[in-house]
Amino acid sequence: MEYELIVRGGTVVDGSGAPRFQADLAIDAGRIAEVIADQESDQASAVREIDARGLVVSPGFIDLHSHSDWVAPIVEHAAILKPFLMQGVTTFVGGNCGFSVAPVRARARQMLDESGQMLSERKFAWNWQEVSEFAAHLKRQGMALNMAQLAGHGSIRLCVMGADAGEPSPEQLREMQAMLERAMADGAVGLSTGLGYFPGMIAKPRELAAMARVAGAAGGVLTSHLRAYSTRSLFFQSEVPHNLLAVREMVEVAREASVPLQISHLIFVGRRTWPTASETLADIERAAGDGVDVAFDTFPYTCGNTTIRVIFPAWSQPRLEELLDRTDGWAQLRDGFQPLRAFIAEAVQLMWAVKPELAHLEGKFFGEIGDAMKLDPVEAYLTIARESGTRARVLNHLYSGDDDGNEEALRAAMSHRLNAFEMDTILTSRGHHNPASFGTYPRILGYYVRELGLLRLEDAIYKMTGMAAQRMHLKERGLVRKGYAADLCIFDPATIGCAADSRLPDQHPAGIQHLLVNGRALIENGKWCGDGVLAGQWLARA
Ligand SMILES: [Zn+2]
Repeated sequence: MEYELIVRGGTVVDGSGAPRFQADLAIDAGRIAEVIADQESDQASAVREIDARGLVVSPGFIDLHSHSDWVAPIVEHAAILKPFLMQGVTTFVGGNCGFSVAPVRARARQMLDESGQMLSERKFAWNWQEVSEFAAHLKRQGMALNMAQLAGHGSIRLCVMGADAGEPSPEQLREMQAMLERAMADGAVGLSTGLGYFPGMIAKPRELAAMARVAGAAGGVLTSHLRAYSTRSLFFQSEVPHNLLAVREMVEVAREASVPLQISHLIFVGRRTWPTASETLADIERAAGDGVDVAFDTFPYTCGNTTIRVIFPAWSQPRLEELLDRTDGWAQLRDGFQPLRAFIAEAVQLMWAVKPELAHLEGKFFGEIGDAMKLDPVEAYLTIARESGTRARVLNHLYSGDDDGNEEALRAAMSHRLNAFEMDTILTSRGHHNPASFGTYPRILGYYVRELGLLRLEDAIYKMTGMAAQRMHLKERGLVRKGYAADLCIFDPATIGCAADSRLPDQHPAGIQHLLVNGRALIENGKWCGDGVLAGQWLARA
């Protein structure tokens, strides 16, 4: 039998967590046609061969926590998202943290443009409302990677309620549920929530459970950017660590709604929060043992990208721009930020300032920006917030560890059996980049697996592929199996790695020799050959 392609002589790490084995893979029509055991391989031939001797053959990596649905609908997305492919990512799940580009309503267009400005390259034509229309748009346009989509609670709420900070009326709640129900019927993989952001921060557990029940009934997942990731927050009044209370809140919502829960980017923000990692992980294990289908995800950095708005108190969110323009509002915000002064100065790095005339400050920490502007770091933060129309993007540090290698909390979360890997990165052509956009998966495989021995290679790959596909209900993805999609990352386990860090983020990884998306080559013999290749597919929920 002659195949289109044979990957010969590689060590297959199949994405299930099972021990590695030697096999050849025959590929036809974008699928794995056969997994051929070593001793039988001589009988198979192909038009093209990849020599994978000495290399690991794994499923392409799946980023189950992406915001790139805000970039995918434009033609330039292929060039912008190229760093994902260069690190072996073949699939992403968009619409996280409550903000998705579908389903939407035309009447909320302006608000969506504003709230999505930080995540997107430029404004959309919005020639879709429903998830099915969005999928049709992507299919017409073409996609560089495979993509699945979550429906965002925040986007749906904005479409139905506008900036209303109250609770939804029964009619409004029914309308929100109907939007989600349609999205699920159109193939969305679940519901995402962003409870640290407006308007998710307004939503009470009752509202979240009412929505989550719709996702669960359709066989989807609930993902949650929790209300708090640090011991103290503005959301709870309690001596119990707030990040722990935030986990418990969503576990109860998931239990009530009978829906699998994926806790998004389980980070422990700030030095005082790191010691709560073991207690939090034990709590999640207890919930899992007690019948809640719960897991979480992490990225391998002690910094993460977010909006400059994230640390502003809930009361200020609906009218933040107005407050920043008023002397009394400014003074009130400044005084309220004093407990966070040291964090803002040392641990918040400006990534995108929005205004070109402030671009020289991108990449700097707010202590440095304060020095450059001759302002206190808190004043500098408020100034950039105001000047950017509150749309600036920042990279916050001290997430589960620091740059000096104090990262017990990060490693405990990364190596935990309930953890899947993800990137949670915002990648546009503008501003200073997040190193996660360039190096996430190679860093895990090079630094945490090979150098530190924190995880077995098989377990790390499972958390990047099979586990991610299973959590997100992706059909025939994430495993090296006969009949599965030929999304393959073929890398050298001795050299894979990436040096990208928060100061010098745009460094490409080493060690990836071949990359296939649905059988089409984007990297060959270590060289990028994917310009203009749109091999990605829309993935509806299995
Ligand atoms: Zn998030």
